[in-house]
Amino acid sequence: MMEKFKRFMYGRYGVDLVSLAVLVVGLVLSTFGQWFNLIILTLFSYALYIYGLFRIFSKNIPARQRELTILMKYKSKVRGWFSFKKKQVEERKLYKYFGCPNCKQKLRAPRGRGKIQVTCQKCKTTFIKKT
Ligand SMILES: [Zn+2]
Repeated sequence: MMEKFKRFMYGRYGVDLVSLAVLVVGLVLSTFGQWFNLIILTLFSYALYIYGLFRIFSKNIPARQRELTILMKYKSKVRGWFSFKKKQVEERKLYKYFGCPNCKQKLRAPRGRGKIQVTCQKCKTTFIKKT
């Protein structure tokens, strides 16, 4: 039985983070779909199950790896945004955060200095900011 399965899976992509994420989201959606009796959510969750299983048994390994790369990039962006927000909250009493009026680069300045002249590190624009 195990041997048969191993032979079947040979050359196939197998489980990765994308398939797991798709299956977990499908599970959550189908649960919500049943709770609130929303047929559209249940149908969408079936589509996710099919897609997740399709990925696991897929033989097009480069395409599946590309999908994984996209997810990892997205994941690190989301994580980066959260860690920046966390830092901002932790330092809110010490620093004031604001965006450059020219290039929107995120900048910070120590609080309680009154009106100061700020020079953007990225585009060298100078402007006055009250801290
Ligand atoms: Zn700038």
